[in-house]
Amino acid sequence: MSYKNFPMVPRVIFGRGSFNQLNEIIAPNRLDGKAPFIYLIDDVFKDNAWLISRITLSHDDVIHYISTKEEPKTSQVDKLVSQIKTTYPTNPSGIIGIGGGSILDLAKAVSIVLTNPGESKDYQGWDLVENKALYHVGVPTISGTGAEVSRTAILTGPDRKLGINSDYTPFDQVILDPELTKDVPKDQWFYTGMDCYIHCVESLKGTFLNEFSKSYGEKSLDLCKEIFLNKDLNTQLAQDKLMMASWHGGMSIAYSQVGVAHALSYGLSYHLGIKHGIGNCLVFDHLEEYYPEGVAVFKEMKSLHHINLPKGICSNLEAHEFDIMINVALGLEPLWENALGENWKNIITRDKIKAIYKKI
Ligand code: NAD
Ligand code: ZN
Repeated sequence: MSYKNFPMVPRVIFGRGSFNQLNEIIAPNRLDGKAPFIYLIDDVFKDNAWLISRITLSHDDVIHYISTKEEPKTSQVDKLVSQIKTTYPTNPSGIIGIGGGSILDLAKAVSIVLTNPGESKDYQGWDLVENKALYHVGVPTISGTGAEVSRTAILTGPDRKLGINSDYTPFDQVILDPELTKDVPKDQWFYTGMDCYIHCVESLKGTFLNEFSKSYGEKSLDLCKEIFLNKDLNTQLAQDKLMMASWHGGMSIAYSQVGVAHALSYGLSYHLGIKHGIGNCLVFDHLEEYYPEGVAVFKEMKSLHHINLPKGICSNLEAHEFDIMINVALGLEPLWENALGENWKNIITRDKIKAIYKKI
């Protein structure tokens, strides 16, 4: 038996207003006293002076505002890397990602490809990265994915949606300022929050579970229940709690895995471009057979917050389209093994998966 020896984020700051310390935190990491910091920021903040005015640009520092209408793609990473390489003769000082899971994953991926040869798709998989990434900082502005703490940067590539899972993926520095999440729209708050809840259920019900994962998963699940089984929306305390639930949820899956909902959600995302949080909710709503308690509580949360999931997403799909989604889902073998055990191939069938997709 060989145990996984995985890295953790070495530096993290938590607190409302801690984002004010960004400039002083990154300053000592400026290379040669002048190499630029590149900011990748969700374009939802483009005209948001409350946030942007707190960033002090100096030397050749630059902000790229990024649309998150679609989840990050390998082509998007490669384009940014090539743009940065042609603009600057030597490596910049670091990449600062400010946004949700999409931006955090983009920042992680760009920082890796900047110091490694080839294209981002070459690194989709497990432990394919050879060189240390450029210094990279993550500042989440919505809570739930755990991308701020995880060892993966999930990208949609030409052939597949798969993470760059490596020891060099985690951020060097994370700034957890729950106040940055105050304006997240309610539906999105729910969808991304449920990503965290589903991480916990899938980790805690999985066969890979150990006490390490359990200790983080249980704490995160308790926090999710405190937040989402309560009628009070997005209060300051709920923002603080959800940010820590996301962190703990991410830590929980670091040493275990996600399960059925994530496998099927990847299929929806790959073929139909449905985003991760809402995709997970669409699938999880129909997984009573696999997670009876978790799904019952999910339905209670959904109804308490008046969330109406879209319907009929898969109703007009053709047989070959279901096949594409089923292939993506079944390709995620570790997820199935975690969810259903070593014998998973005898338990889950293409027809069973298709029947679930048809309900969505
Ligand atoms: P997201 O980053 O796509 O953002 C969702 C929406 O919320 C966007 O429209 C964004 O503009 C908006 N938003 C973000 N912060 C806001 C704020 N403070 N105020 C107002 N609007 C705000 O969504 P997400 O759910 O955080 O991330 C999904 C992505 O994360 C997917 O690409 C998924 O693959 C990835 N993911 C990664 C991991 C990991 O461990 N790396 C884990 C789970 C999911
Ligand atoms: Zn997830």
